[in-house]
Amino acid sequence: MSGDNGKGADVDVVIIGGGAAGIAAARRLQAIRLDLSILLLEAGDRLGGRAWTVRLPGAADVALDLGCGWLHGARTNAWTDIAEEVGLTVDRTPAPWSGGRRLQQNDAETQAAQEAIGAFFERLDSHEGDDADLAAVLEPGNEWNGQIRAIGTYITGAELERSSVVDYNRYDPGPGPDWRVRQGYGTLISVYGRPVPARLGVEVSRIDHRHAGRIGIETNQGVLSARAVLVTVSTNMLAAEKIAFDPPLPEKTQAAARLPLGLADKLFLGLAHPEALPPDTHMLGSISRGATGTYQLRPLGAPVVEAYFGGDLAHDLEREGGEAAFSFAADELAGQFGADIRKELSLAAISAWAAAPHIGGSYSYAEPGASDLRAVLAAPHDERIFFAGEACSRSRYSTAHGAYDTGVAAADRIAASFSRKA
Ligand SMILES: Cc1cc2nc3c(=O)[nH]c(=O)nc-3n(C[C@H](O)[C@H](O)[C@H](O)COP(=O)(O)OP(=O)(O)OC[C@H]3O[C@@H](n4cnc5c(N)ncnc54)[C@H](O)[C@@H]3O)c2cc1C
Repeated sequence: MSGDNGKGADVDVVIIGGGAAGIAAARRLQAIRLDLSILLLEAGDRLGGRAWTVRLPGAADVALDLGCGWLHGARTNAWTDIAEEVGLTVDRTPAPWSGGRRLQQNDAETQAAQEAIGAFFERLDSHEGDDADLAAVLEPGNEWNGQIRAIGTYITGAELERSSVVDYNRYDPGPGPDWRVRQGYGTLISVYGRPVPARLGVEVSRIDHRHAGRIGIETNQGVLSARAVLVTVSTNMLAAEKIAFDPPLPEKTQAAARLPLGLADKLFLGLAHPEALPPDTHMLGSISRGATGTYQLRPLGAPVVEAYFGGDLAHDLEREGGEAAFSFAADELAGQFGADIRKELSLAAISAWAAAPHIGGSYSYAEPGASDLRAVLAAPHDERIFFAGEACSRSRYSTAHGAYDTGVAAADRIAASFSRKA
């Protein structure tokens, strides 16, 4: 329990979910409506949700982000300023996709692959007409389709066939480069959540909004009531009806089902001798296979390799377990640096977002034709049940700052609804 206001059985606003969106909403309400009592309920045992920083075993000063890591669109990303406000360090080393150091860059094959990738994204940008899946934009038979497929899985967490071109084209994280928080993005979001009255380990199972006036909120720790509820849980949780609405809200469940979470998982490999690999350098496991990892060697100089797996490969490796993921990554690193690199490597930390009980995946994508459902998901119901979370953002979906923005927008709507009722 953190910052609990002690009572909490009957409050003005209950916020369900202590990730980026729930915390942003709570902080906003605290700032603009001191008169309202709020309580955040989080099913897990920590704040942050998909923002989660762990420490490198034996090196407490090395932060490893198992979830979000990059401050995308850093100049207009709300978390950039918050990081500085709370005394954390924003590191401005360029990301590999915007001028950062890359291992493979000068040979003819890499150049040819880059051209094919560039052409694919140009075709995507200029796509007109009805929505389609991303695979429809592939050039049949192009020898670099494997690498394009791999990149697609890192972006959406799903194979190209599953996700929408229109939704992809609406994605806009905002201007600016991508930066990192030295102490971890997860640290940042949980630190920002500290002043919020919150209860951890409280899983909401049912929202009873049958009656005018107070809304009943059933949890594993008893029943609460509130005048307004903000739901920020992931689309996979909503689609699986882990929270029952009474009366049901089928438009929300159906929208969530067509905005499922893709899967991306991270594996951190410890390095016995950091100097064995260059610092802050990017490497692709394979430039031709679709099922390949993307690797950040020694991020921020740390003695680790950060491996990133997306889509079907991430599902397979998560199912097979840590050793399988470790040996997959070690093979790809050995392919580049020789077999001796294996002796340097150990398993330091690994995520399993599909299996995370209250989350169930990494970030939302839209099925073809489903992009407009983000607005359906975000719309308040009856001016009493509000929704926020990354999937509710039209253009910053799948990001932690998009989640933040939807939390603030929901808080403003909640405040306005109380002003109208007053
Ligand atoms: C591997 C990975 C890499 C990523 N990389 C980046 C990146 O570099 N940059 C970026 O901006 N974003 C990235 N993201 C995405 C980003 O982490 C998410 O978009 C964002 O954190 C989602 O925040 P949210 O508040 O919408 O949802 P969540 O963080 O999922 O918060 C919802 C909370 O609700 C809780 N909850 C669920 N059910 C219940 C219930 N019944 N009762 C009570 N509580 C419940 C959950 O435990 C959770 O804490 C990444 C994500 C992953 C997994």
